[in-house]
This record gives sequence, structure tokens and C-alpha cells, in this order.
Amino acid sequence: MGAKTDHIRLYIPGPIEVSDKTFEALATPMIGHRSKDFQSLYAGIQPMLQEAFGTRQPVFLSTSSAWGVMEGAIRNLVKTKVLNCCNGAFSDKWLDVSRRCGKEAEALQVEWGQPIRAAQIEEKIKTGEFDTVTLVHNETSTGVMSPLDEIGELSRRYPDVMFIADSVSGFSVVPTPFDALGIDVLLTGSQKALALPPGLGLFTVSDAAFARAETVNDRGYYFDFIEFRANQKNDMTPSTPVIPHIYALRSKLDDIFAEGLENRYARHAKLNAMVHDWVSANGFEFFAPEGFRSKALTCVSNNRGIDTAAFLGLLKTNHRIAIDGGYGKIKGKTFRISNMGDETEESIGGVIAALDDSLAKL
Ligand SMILES: *Cc1c(COP(=O)(O)O)cnc(C)c1O
Repeated sequence: MGAKTDHIRLYIPGPIEVSDKTFEALATPMIGHRSKDFQSLYAGIQPMLQEAFGTRQPVFLSTSSAWGVMEGAIRNLVKTKVLNCCNGAFSDKWLDVSRRCGKEAEALQVEWGQPIRAAQIEEKIKTGEFDTVTLVHNETSTGVMSPLDEIGELSRRYPDVMFIADSVSGFSVVPTPFDALGIDVLLTGSQKALALPPGLGLFTVSDAAFARAETVNDRGYYFDFIEFRANQKNDMTPSTPVIPHIYALRSKLDDIFAEGLENRYARHAKLNAMVHDWVSANGFEFFAPEGFRSKALTCVSNNRGIDTAAFLGLLKTNHRIAIDGGYGKIKGKTFRISNMGDETEESIGGVIAALDDSLAKL
């Protein structure tokens, strides 16, 4: 990875390392977005996208970062009131976004570091007050993975409530089988586990959510689910998409299916366990409780009280590796190491050796 340059390698939880192969795919000559070439590019990757999302619904490509789709989902689906499940920086922000879209919104606030459980959501939605729920599957800021299966079960029992799941940093790390879960929107972004540069959002929408969107008048244009569906019928997107990313996505999907989805999930679990072993062996603790720890990254509690800024500095200067020094209000109290994307036992082994060396020099 990055063999051509001596750049600082990214082990922050997104953006992450982008392979030379991906950079080559990004440099494919341009085509018109209303051409047959584009239609075959688009149609060609649909089956792989559908398999990765675990769905027979179309998978849409949005030329935006994930936040565009997160805001779009609110605009398309909320009519009465949305329950935003909040347990970290991204999920907390979603509440703010709902309100900025002019929607009635309430937080289900859980302490940072804790998962969102279905029973907590049910307490709120059984009142009948809410028509939409948002949830961040893998809270990247805290390294917490909430259990999607029990939330899917809840979603099936409340068919009139739309469940929107952000799996921006969980997608392709662990299974997120959209149809089997029975949720209504699943979205991700290009710069997390897919290891592409930032700039592309990917999402899928249930029939129930399309039906809801059809009854919402102020969906806007750029993120209108109904526009996406209409254009999809011609293997196109509503506006000119970021075509280089779509070439890169095709290249990445080829790799993902050459490896196999199950092998990919297993590789992420293995690499994550390597980092976890380093955490335990060095007397650190995890920010997330056992059973709810992300497989995409590790959020380490700085219970030893090390100088995280100095630690990050040593990693960068001596090893040309960047990890993250903690997000927002847990900066310095935590640090985060990503194991997403194209990493191998060898590359993560190298990161661990660098962590050891830097810790020893503090
Ligand atoms: C990175 C991330 C986002 C935001 O992605 P943008 O690319 O900045 O829009 C949202 N949710 C989660 C969980 C993330 O990790």
C-alpha cells in the first residue's frame, strides 16, 4: 500500500489508506454520465452492491459524503417526529441535523461509550409519537457497535416507523443484511471500510420508505429518494455523479468479491483482535463495554494517562503513521486506531510494533 510515496499512512477511523490500485481506477478516462458506457458501468456494479448490502432493492450512489444521505433520509421520511438515538458524536449531530431540517426531533440520549438497545427505543416509540428513528450502527467516535439484529426485530414489529441506520464505518466490516433486518434505510460512505477517497455516499431504501417518501412534499431535489429511484431505472443518477469514484468502487467491489464477503468480515475481526490484544497487554482499557466493541476500529481509554499528543507525534515522526487522538469531548481521554479496509496481519503487525516503540519512548 502506498508503495509509490512516502506519505503518512492513515490509521485514523476515516479517511483511511487508499491503495495504488484504487488510485489507478480513479484515473480512468472520463465518460459522459448519460452515455451507454456509464449505464453499463452502473448496471455492472449493481449486483455486487446488492449482495454487499444484502438486498434486492436498488443500491443508490450519492455524490456527497454520508452526511448528505443522512440529511436526505430525514427530509424524505420524517412527517411527524423523529427519534434520534444518540450515543456519540455522529449520532448526537444527527439530532441537530433533524432540527435544522425543520423537523420535530427528540433525542434518545445514551451515555457516550454505551450501545443503543432495542428496548430503549421501544420505550419511546410505543407512545406512537414517532414516525422515524435514526441510529448509528457503528459509532466511530466511541468505538461502539450497537446490535443491529435486535433493532431489525423491533423495526419489523413497528412497520409504520421508519428505521434509518448509518453504517458508515460498519459496512463491509460486519454483515449488514438489509432485507433480513427489515430496516428502511441503510447508508454508508466511501472513505471508511471501503477504502476509497471521501466523496461518495451509498444507500438503499425499503419499499415502505419509498411509500412514505411519496407522501412527503418537501423532499428537496438533490437527495430525493424518488428521483434516485426514477433515474435508477435507466442505470443513471439524478445529477452528474463522481464518476472516478464509481470506477474506483467497481475495482474495490471486484476485490471484495475475490476475497469473499465472509473472508472479509473474518479478516476485519482478526485484525481488530490483534489491536485489542495490544490494548490489554499494555494495561489500557476499552472505551466500549465487552460485546459492543467495534470491529472496524478500537477506541482505547487512556486510563494510563499518557500524553496522547506526544504519542501521536512519535508515531507520526518515527513511523509515518497517523492514529486519532480522540473525538470531541473525549479527546485526550481516548485514542482510536482503525483496522478498516485493505489492511493485513502484516500491516497491522507493523502498526502494533510502532505503537510499542512509541509507547516505550514516551
Ligand atoms: C465518518 C462518519 C460519518 C460522516 O461521514 P462524512 O463523510 O463526514 O459525511 C457519519 N457517521 C459515521 C458513523 C461516520 O463514521
